[in-house]
Amino acid sequence: MNLIIKVAIPGPLRQCFDYYSKECNLNWQQGMRVSVPFGSRKLIGFVLAITKVENNVDLKSLKAIEKRLDDKQLIPQSIIDLILWTSDYYHHPIGDCFQVALPKFISNGKQSQINQEIFWVLCSDINNEQNLGKKQQSIIKFLKSKPSNKARQTELFTHLGQCRSSLLSLEKKGLIEQQQGIKQDDINSQISDAISLNDEQQQAVDTVWKDDQKFSPFLLQGITGSGKTEVYIHLAKKVLAENKQVLILIPEIGLTEQFVQRFKQKLSAHIVVLNSSISDKERTQAWLLANEGLAQIVIGTRSAVFTPLPNLGLIIIDEEHDSSYKQQDSLRYHARTVALVRAKKQQIPIVLGSATPSIETLHHSQKQRYQILKLSKRATGANLPKIRLINSNGPKAADALSSELFKAIKAEITANNQVLLFINRRGYAPVLMCHQCSWQANCQHCDAKMIVHQHRYQLRCHHCGAVQNLLTQCPSCSSADLTTYGAGTQQIEQKLQGYFPEARILRIDKDSTQRVGAFEKIVNEIQQGGAKILVGTQMLAKGHDFHDVTLVGVLDADQGLFSADFRATESLAQLITQVTGRAGRGKKPGTVYIQTSQVDHPFWKNMIEHDYDSAAKKLLQERSDLEMPPYGSLCVIRSRAKEQEISMQFLMDVAEILRQTEQQDVLILGPVPAIMEKRAGYFRSQLLLTSKNRKRLHQLLDHHIDQISALKQIRKLKWSIDIDPIDLL
Ligand code: ADP
Ligand code: ZN
Ligand code: ZN
Repeated sequence: MNLIIKVAIPGPLRQCFDYYSKECNLNWQQGMRVSVPFGSRKLIGFVLAITKVENNVDLKSLKAIEKRLDDKQLIPQSIIDLILWTSDYYHHPIGDCFQVALPKFISNGKQSQINQEIFWVLCSDINNEQNLGKKQQSIIKFLKSKPSNKARQTELFTHLGQCRSSLLSLEKKGLIEQQQGIKQDDINSQISDAISLNDEQQQAVDTVWKDDQKFSPFLLQGITGSGKTEVYIHLAKKVLAENKQVLILIPEIGLTEQFVQRFKQKLSAHIVVLNSSISDKERTQAWLLANEGLAQIVIGTRSAVFTPLPNLGLIIIDEEHDSSYKQQDSLRYHARTVALVRAKKQQIPIVLGSATPSIETLHHSQKQRYQILKLSKRATGANLPKIRLINSNGPKAADALSSELFKAIKAEITANNQVLLFINRRGYAPVLMCHQCSWQANCQHCDAKMIVHQHRYQLRCHHCGAVQNLLTQCPSCSSADLTTYGAGTQQIEQKLQGYFPEARILRIDKDSTQRVGAFEKIVNEIQQGGAKILVGTQMLAKGHDFHDVTLVGVLDADQGLFSADFRATESLAQLITQVTGRAGRGKKPGTVYIQTSQVDHPFWKNMIEHDYDSAAKKLLQERSDLEMPPYGSLCVIRSRAKEQEISMQFLMDVAEILRQTEQQDVLILGPVPAIMEKRAGYFRSQLLLTSKNRKRLHQLLDHHIDQISALKQIRKLKWSIDIDPIDLL
């Protein structure tokens, strides 16, 4: 008897491949890794199915499995199912989905063992310590002070210095014993007192965590500073008390450290973190600990949604509206969508937390698919700040800085308070232009302008990374009359430093936080109160709890009001609300100034009144009128090629294939060039599919995807399917 083994293999292919194995007495299981021949290469794949066959006839066309890498199931069934669902829903090659969902060392076959370390334990009562040397005595004393008279070797070294030989001689005397144990961070045994929750918080906790565990989604909508994180901590405590695990997803921002510390301070539990700042090795270890049930809380960004957790009891998604939950390349999944599917498959509650829920989530709550839990006041009793609009066409103190806002900044720093200024543009200036002939510095590879970065005397493209020296002469007419227009973070920082030479000013953007740990350092300095003025992009808008900030200024609020993208106003409302939430969190009240050329725009009325819900209601109505999400489903098929014609022709062929099926429910729009057509040397085009009926849209794709994948031009271009795109740019 032989086995036919179905394997998912990395790469762009949409099917799985059959191999055979003659080793049918081994205990084969799904989720094991195998090494298989593929063309001239050897690849690591994942076992998806095993079938017994009696005769050898079926095997003729198959190749043999080269090697099995695991003795037991490595990827649990629940995760295989989730990956299969993801591959199916996002119409993405299955092997590639495994690559995205798993740590690199797991998917490339490198590791599957949890690291061990050496512990030392006291053997029995020791009465004859006099005969021992000094070092040996202190080892015994140290072990006696530990629970179960046991300590890690590394810990002994830290406290007593190198003491290897003393340890070995104590072992020889039979006084202590070496043990192997799992390498894992200690749990915090000195947790700080729990904050007692207010009524709304307590009710949220009690509603989410009940005895009868079933799939139940909740929207925890709490204004900024209302104590959502505190609710998560109390919920986690309850879940841990029942020996279950908690999965917490957080956005991809510099905030992880602060967030994790709060959990570590208040819970004595094994907590692991899975974000982009850890190494592949650490990620693999954290993943293995979670898979074995040894990590009780997993806190991670997007891809952590695929972490195997044998005793998963609850999923929490913090800042559920955040766009970093959607992957924007290869497998374009949304971690919130996958998390909801996971919670449903595993029949557990899931909490989506936000001060500014996404329009989709609000829609589901209105339809009573999600239960709403509201936190309506700031937990510390602080009031929400006053918001004032400033006409950005009025008098100015500097480019992009109105005189009115300037005066307010001066008053606050004189009173020794902190000021936070947002401008969503890094660099010095977005335009370099010749006064004589109107030439502008454009990127050669993109339909975009080069951004002036003055402190390095460079022009940089923020889309493709192209860099060149800052010009002093116009390349078109040779005039030296070059001027910059507009302002970015660097310019605001520089101008303010000129006005306030005494004040410590910090800039927080992608340029200033690139180095590892730079962001934490800046955040620390802000919390210590050292910095007086903080100038930053929206990186600084999210989640931070700075108590001395009394004034927040938004310098360029108009962008979102006029953007071509269907989600722009939603994002602006979320950003303004988040930014606003940074002011007046401590004892002193806060004020927010928003500079806009559209002071009469109805959008601002809701923002001034802190009425995100009403703004969202209008957006829902707009989406409903236009049959946009969540009222209609979207799919964008994108292509890019070095030649414009190839990119467009491919999508024309795709459109033709899709139109072969008589399908009244699905609208096929385009293809059209992308709004920024040329980027990093590629011409980009897109085809939009919309439907009120999600199923039909997916059926149409399923029906034709093989035909599309077989198109000849495919080798000359890159293409992707984006299900539920978060933008159409
Ligand atoms: P959010 O996550 O909603 O922004 P946090 O959980 O960070 O809010 O809470 C904001 C601040 O209020 C924190 O400093 C937190 O310690 C404090 N806080 C939260 N809940 C309470 C409570 N019940 N009593 C007193 N302070 C609280
Ligand atoms: Zn010129
Ligand atoms: Zn460029």
